[in-house]
Amino acid sequence: MTQNRQVLLKSRPSGEPTTANFEIVEREVAALAEGDVLVRTLFLSLDPYMRGRMNEGRSYAASVDVGGVMVGGTVGEVVESRAEGFAKGDNVLGFGGWQEYAILPGKSLRKLDPKAAPLSYALGILGMPGMTAYVGLLDLAQPKAGETVVVSAASGAVGSVVGQIAKIKGCRAVGIAGGAAKCEYVVKELGFDACVDHRDPMLPKNLRAACPKGIDVNFENVGGAVLQAVWPLMNDFGRVSVCGLIAQYNDTTLAPGPSWLLLLARRLKVSGFIVSDHMARMADFLRDVSGWMREGKIKYREDVVEGLEKAPEAFLGLLKGTNFGKLIVKMGD
Ligand code: NDP
Repeated sequence: MTQNRQVLLKSRPSGEPTTANFEIVEREVAALAEGDVLVRTLFLSLDPYMRGRMNEGRSYAASVDVGGVMVGGTVGEVVESRAEGFAKGDNVLGFGGWQEYAILPGKSLRKLDPKAAPLSYALGILGMPGMTAYVGLLDLAQPKAGETVVVSAASGAVGSVVGQIAKIKGCRAVGIAGGAAKCEYVVKELGFDACVDHRDPMLPKNLRAACPKGIDVNFENVGGAVLQAVWPLMNDFGRVSVCGLIAQYNDTTLAPGPSWLLLLARRLKVSGFIVSDHMARMADFLRDVSGWMREGKIKYREDVVEGLEKAPEAFLGLLKGTNFGKLIVKMGD
């Protein structure tokens, strides 16, 4: 019988997790059912999202049960197969979790060619993190040549790819990372135009200096103080891809104001807008709304004050809610 070492979630953390939240056990590998494959793990991916899986409650994916094996992407080698298309010795990408062996449905696996790229790359640059960078930058933020793209956690799995794609697309790429060594790597090795250290208390000033034309695209991986430094530098019509908020994953209380974590988990789309940018819609607007009023589908209420001298007082009331309906000053017949 093959013995399988597994890492289980022993308890749910409150705030920062500790090793006491995990437990290592050894169990025998069960028999294979039809359609399943026994995979020996060669590489296990560790990713920030796993912190969320340790919590209870609604999110975009199910929590790990207490006592359950921690989830995670894996690259492995097929030991035994009862699934069509997989044979002993094949290398596969799957979701095996934190364990030495996993029994996985054949249809959940993707075969890997070890000659095409190092196998572990399927968990990083050529896997979920790389794909996150690709779609989050190109599809959601749509950077244009000449624009400034800022990405946090810039030396990491996602951020490093975001900045390099931004460069390929002709943008100015500015990273934010923790410490001098990471910042140096981001600029000298990855080819970003600049990188600022978020541990430096001068972060807001340094970021401003690194982004002389402001920020057009922010690929947010961190949140908290880093996002706070980015926010005032955003240019008109800038785009923000909220990919991750790692600085907040251990929070136990909600900060006042809208929750960025909820925005991320529920994929909310938030867009500022100014009506004057949309004047091309005027004819449609007049046609539809006049029609709806004629049909009695839309009601309208005015709050009319008479005489220009009433304007200041009425305006101050508007700011406190004493008006009831559209506030109008009647100046004459
Ligand atoms: P990384 O390889 O970038 O590792 C995480 C990095 O986050 C750390 O190295 C550290 O970098 C930074 N970090 C951690 N804590 C803090 C903190 N309190 N303040 C500032 N920085 C912090 O991880 P990934 O590239 O895999 O993930 C990056 C982000 O992308 C994460 O937020 C993750 O949740 C998110 N993500 C989202 C996906 C999605 O589908 N939306 C998919 C994949 C990832 P440093 O030292 O530079 O600060």
